[in-house]
Amino acid sequence: MRMSQNTSTSQALLDHARSVTPGGVNSPVRAFRAVGGTPRFIREAKGPWLTDVDGNRYVDLICSWGPMILGHADPRVMDAVQQAASRGFSFGTPSENEVALATEIVSRVEPVEQVRLVSSGTEATMSAIRLARGATQRSKIVKFAGCYHGHVDALLAFAGSGLATFALPDSAGVPASSAGETIVLPYNDVDALDAAFAEHGDEVAAVITEASPGNMGVVPPVPGFTKALRDITTKHGALLISDEVMTGFRCSAAGWFGHEGQQGETAPDLFTFGKVMGGGFPAAAFGGRRDLMELLAPDGPVYQAGTLAGNPIATAAGLATLQACTPEVYAHLDRVAHTIADAASSELMKAGVPHQVQWASSMFSIFFTDEAVTNYDGAKKQDIHAFARFFDAMLAQGVHLPPSSFEAWFVSASHDDEAVAHIVEALPTAARAAA
Ligand code: PLP
Repeated sequence: MRMSQNTSTSQALLDHARSVTPGGVNSPVRAFRAVGGTPRFIREAKGPWLTDVDGNRYVDLICSWGPMILGHADPRVMDAVQQAASRGFSFGTPSENEVALATEIVSRVEPVEQVRLVSSGTEATMSAIRLARGATQRSKIVKFAGCYHGHVDALLAFAGSGLATFALPDSAGVPASSAGETIVLPYNDVDALDAAFAEHGDEVAAVITEASPGNMGVVPPVPGFTKALRDITTKHGALLISDEVMTGFRCSAAGWFGHEGQQGETAPDLFTFGKVMGGGFPAAAFGGRRDLMELLAPDGPVYQAGTLAGNPIATAAGLATLQACTPEVYAHLDRVAHTIADAASSELMKAGVPHQVQWASSMFSIFFTDEAVTNYDGAKKQDIHAFARFFDAMLAQGVHLPPSSFEAWFVSASHDDEAVAHIVEALPTAARAAA
């Protein structure tokens, strides 16, 4: 197996990119800061394989951070995109695909009666929060440490010490007044939730949570936590927003909601979606109960809009992707993910590397720690240097993991026996490197 790669073209592109783009990248995680080394500039991708500008090939376990559930350049999606593109790129008027995609989402996720399409997950969560504030006439938002909901001012916030702390900005440029409306709590901690609501319950517009967090690595809700969120928000007249940007249509045909079987008693008021529903194009959505959604402009007082919202090509790609996500696809994702995770775990065990494999349906991550991770503090205890060595050895052998230990690993319907065998073959060397 090849252990040295020529990355000179990627490096040259990065050097030039740095002169015209901050850090040389258009989203920070792409810069490899957590793992070191040269980010690979990808020239093309097909199925589970990425090919970089130096001609190196990698099995892809990023899948564009979730959207590419069918694999790259799936022919059905390609066909839908080409047909849509041949009819024009953007109209700025209503069009058929938008209605079809909205109908598909509403038919899948039972509590969602209406959706509004937007172009990114960030817009979806930002708009859901505005809607929640408009509906409740309250301003405070509860979020959980380690959950990421995009780069919305009010949600880029971390907690200080203590259980229910008003947040400090987590980024320069976020006004303290904005972050100060956000209460950040430890995930999976019902006592912290109770304490926060005891003090501020009548000021809270909404609790926003990742349906099953994947942005601190995969940390699913402990049994009863989602129900506790529903109960306490209902009791205090706050809304519950379930962020399914990552889990939506990936964890099941109806996302984490469908996977966890949260029928009726734990149904959130609002959902946010993104990633898979755009099939690799910029499409996202927020949706929920009709009485809430009808508060949006043009009929209601809560303003929200978008020049490219419901773009005809993005919605065609999203629709073709969702329609191709059959029960067989979800079964395949499960099988492939378990084969990879079991093999990784077995090699890490042989190499004596402490680790935890954590799951949300077919989404998983491996924490380099010997304790189960239930919240962000737990996730931060992992050995990030061991992960970096593991990542580097996998990359050198042609497997592209997410370049951070705080991320989920994503598989696709196109990960076939050959791709899986390639990953499995790379694991022993990577596990020994991590030791
Ligand atoms: N919400 C969750 C759960 C996410 O994982 C992300 C992105 O990773 C977002 C929101 C933001 O989505 P976008 O990057 O499309 O703005």
